[in-house]
Amino acid sequence: MKLILLGAPGSGKGTQAAYISEKYDLPHISTGEIFRENIKEMTPLGVKVKAVMDTGNLCPDDLTVELVKERLSKPDCKNGYLLDGFPRNIYQASALDEIDAPDKVINLDIDLSKIEHRITGRRSCAKCNGSYHVDFIGNVNTCPNCGSELTIRKDDTVEVVKERLAVYEVQTAPLIDYYKAQGKLVNVDGDKSIKEVFDEIVKVLG
Ligand code: ADP
Ligand code: ZN
Repeated sequence: MKLILLGAPGSGKGTQAAYISEKYDLPHISTGEIFRENIKEMTPLGVKVKAVMDTGNLCPDDLTVELVKERLSKPDCKNGYLLDGFPRNIYQASALDEIDAPDKVINLDIDLSKIEHRITGRRSCAKCNGSYHVDFIGNVNTCPNCGSELTIRKDDTVEVVKERLAVYEVQTAPLIDYYKAQGKLVNVDGDKSIKEVFDEIVKVLG
């Protein structure tokens, strides 16, 4: 199964991806995670994309497509993939159609007015990659999964969130129609609880 998770920033792609990846045994490929890892390790790629990522804009297409192409050629993608955060515009989507087209695209549909609250309340764990909202964890400084210290992503500030949302609306939202036209799009209500959203995804995947 070759799957794409589509949705605005803060729509819960990363959270749902972790569950989907486990249940269907698919490699979870998050371009955002890959970029963040590279920034942390200060690789040449990380150095190249840091500034643009901090402003909430997209990393260069050629670089991103190349990265995904290489990742998809790894043996663990033999039976499919789960892409999270890619493609993010029409150029990337048509590049992916050339490389290894998806079977299904799940669009996590959420009320855009809730995004700011969702993202500014997000806390991330650098150790286990967990991501939580302060509304749902007892201790906002400690990872409920591994006990490490939680941090706030550099691009999870109010100003940067506004920019990410603008980028989403102009560049990424058109992918909904792109995949609808291909008959691959499935809409899932992302405003429900984590469990309800996941149950709905399982239902549509059959
Ligand atoms: P979110 O889905 O919460 O916005 P991500 O972790 O997916 O967060 O992405 C964070 C940032 O990484 C983006 O704002 C962008 O700068 C960069 N990025 C991630 N995926 C892509 C992509 N496919 N193309 C270009 N830039 C990307
Ligand atoms: Zn953790």
